Amino acid sequence: MRKKLVVGNWKMHGNRSANAALLAGLKEAGPWNADVAVCVPFPYIAETALALTSQAIAFGAQDCSAQEQGAFTGEVSSAMLADLGCRYVIVGHSERRAYHHESDQLVADKAKAALAHGVTPIVCVGETLVEREAGQTELVVKRQLAAVIHTLTHCIGEIVLAYEPVWAIGTGLTASPEQAQAVHAVLRKQLQAATQKADAMRILYGGSVKPDNAAQLFACADIDGGLIGGAALKTADFSVICRAA
Ligand code: 13P
Repeated sequence: MRKKLVVGNWKMHGNRSANAALLAGLKEAGPWNADVAVCVPFPYIAETALALTSQAIAFGAQDCSAQEQGAFTGEVSSAMLADLGCRYVIVGHSERRAYHHESDQLVADKAKAALAHGVTPIVCVGETLVEREAGQTELVVKRQLAAVIHTLTHCIGEIVLAYEPVWAIGTGLTASPEQAQAVHAVLRKQLQAATQKADAMRILYGGSVKPDNAAQLFACADIDGGLIGGAALKTADFSVICRAA
């Protein structure tokens, strides 16, 4: 039996006072049956760590470098994230693949760097609308996951996978539970071929998860929680989604 996981991806939102209010609200609203985490912007990780001390809510980052350390101006290493107590780091979010031209291999290398420091990578995969309409959804997500499987080999069972159809992110166009489950089943099968741990691995759905659609999505056999964008910025909405998991 897989324990559900709900992760809030704050993206590039927030400021110190708004974050403090949001975190205080979440501490009040919990605990939940599901595991819950927030992935916050780099500058706010340390304060988030202080705010969540001894709380049931985990925290993490939204990206990390594939490099260990050195002359990489502007990069943040997974060792630094581990040093701050991060449990998770999102890698391969479609916004980074699109705006920062991150390749499947770079995403896989970031996942490997994170695992090397005990930080669990939340690896995002997902197709664009053009790819879906061209019937390439399976092809795309399998290619993205294959790079990670190939790179991590026996460690693949340690990641969290997130299916985020690009057309559903921030658009209000949620994938239907049937559409999401179909892709999750494909991904589970691919993981099963790679590791005996596949049935214990969590595959999250992301893309316009809201309080009114979360329960239906989370009820699907291979959907083990959610990666939440916009709705993670409102205590009430995020809390309802966590409760639905
Ligand atoms: P929204 O929930 O705002 O659609 O964002 C999803 C997402 O990209 C989470 O990583």
